[in-house]
Amino acid sequence: MLTFEKLYSMGHEEVIFFSEPSCGLKAIIAIHDTTLGPALGGTRMWPYANEEEAIEDVLRLSRGMTYKAAVSGLNLGGGKAVIIGDPKKDKSEALFRAYGRFVESLNGRYITAEDVNISVDDIDDVYTETNYVCGIAKASGGSGNPAPYTALGTFRGMEAGATKVWGSREAIKDKIVGIQGVGSVGIELAELVNEAGGKLIFTDINEENIQRMKEKFPHAEFIQPEAFYSANMDIYAPCALGATINDQTIGQLKCKLVNGAANNQLKEDRHGQELKDRGILYSPDYLINAGGLMNVSIEFEGWNDDKSRRMIDTIYDTTMRIYQISEEQNIPVNKAADVLAENRLSSMRKIQTTYLGRGSDHRFPGSKARHAKL
Ligand code: NAD
Repeated sequence: MLTFEKLYSMGHEEVIFFSEPSCGLKAIIAIHDTTLGPALGGTRMWPYANEEEAIEDVLRLSRGMTYKAAVSGLNLGGGKAVIIGDPKKDKSEALFRAYGRFVESLNGRYITAEDVNISVDDIDDVYTETNYVCGIAKASGGSGNPAPYTALGTFRGMEAGATKVWGSREAIKDKIVGIQGVGSVGIELAELVNEAGGKLIFTDINEENIQRMKEKFPHAEFIQPEAFYSANMDIYAPCALGATINDQTIGQLKCKLVNGAANNQLKEDRHGQELKDRGILYSPDYLINAGGLMNVSIEFEGWNDDKSRRMIDTIYDTTMRIYQISEEQNIPVNKAADVLAENRLSSMRKIQTTYLGRGSDHRFPGSKARHAKL
C-alpha cells in the first residue's frame, strides 16, 4: 500500500494517479526529488498484475532517476511514470494524448520520455498535448534513438575501467570483451569496442539479433547464454537484463572489469562488496548508462550531436572520480556512486536556502550551465 511512511522513507515528494476511463488510461507519476531541477524520467507501459506492483515499480524507478541525474552532473530531478496496460492491446492516440494533458497539468515539475514499451510514435502523441516531453523523433526536432548515446557513455566507462585496471584507456585493445545482449545498446557498444581493437565475444537469446551481430562482426564468437558467465573474458558487459551479478554467477566470472549498460546489475548491494573482494572492478551502472539521459536532456536547448557527445565524454572523468572515492573510503563502487550523488544533492539543497526575492527559478531546462563537472 502507498503510505506516507513509505514516501518519507524513500524520499518521494509526490505521487499522482491519473485516470481517464474513456480511453482506459491508468497512469501513475512519481516525482522523487526536484532539488536539482524538474523531474525527468521515462514512461513505462506494463501489464502489471496489480496496482501494488505498479506503485512499487514507479517508486523504485523514480528514485533511481534522482541518483542517475545527480551523479551525471545534470540539473534534473528524478521522476518516472508507469501506465498500467497491455502495450499490444491498450495503446491508442486518445490514451497518449490524455496522458500528455496530465503531464502538462504538472506545469513542468515532471518531464517524460520513452521507457519500456513506449515508442517514439507514442511520445509524439504525448508531445501533441505537452512540451514537457523529450526523446521525440529527430524529424520533430528531437534527438531520436538514444541507444548509440547510451553505448557511448558505457564505452567511456569502459575506458575509465581500462585505465584503472590496465593503466590506459587504449588498453581495451586486444582485451576480450563479452557483451551479454546485443540489442539496441549492445550492438552499438560492440561497434565502439571493435573500433578500439577489442576482441568481441557475445551472447543473446534472440536469433535475429544474434544473426545481425554475426553479419556485422564475423570474428565475434557466440557463446551460449548459460556458458557466458564462465567464458574467458577480460571485460564483462551486461547489456540485457538487470541482476546478472548474483550468488549464482559471481563465482563464475573470470573478468577483471564489469562494465555494461543494463540497469541494476547487482542483484543486491552486497554483490558490489563481493566484486571488490574478488578483485573485480565494477563501473557504476547508473552513471555509465546515463548517456541516453544526457542526450535527451539537451533537447530543451536545441539538440546537437556534438554537444551531446561532449557531455557524455564526461562519464570517463566521473567514473574515475567514483573509483577514487571507492578507494579512499574503502567502500564498493556502487556505494561510492551513491556518495557522489548524495553529496551533490545535499550541497545543492544547502544553497537553495537563500531567498531570491522575486528572482526567477533557474532550474528549468534551457537555463544556463545545466551540466556540472563533478
Ligand atoms: P534491447 O531490448 O534492445 O536489447 C536487449 C537484448 O538482450 C536483446 O537482444 C535480448 O534478446 C537480449 N537478452 C534478453 N535476455 C537475455 C538473456 N537472458 N541472455 C542474453 N541476452 C538476453 O534493450 P536495450 O535498449 O539495448 O537495453 C539494454 C539494457 O540497457 C537494458 O537493461 C536497458 O534497461 C539498459 N539501458 C538502455 C538504455 C537505452 O538507451 N536503450 C538506456 C539506459 C539503460
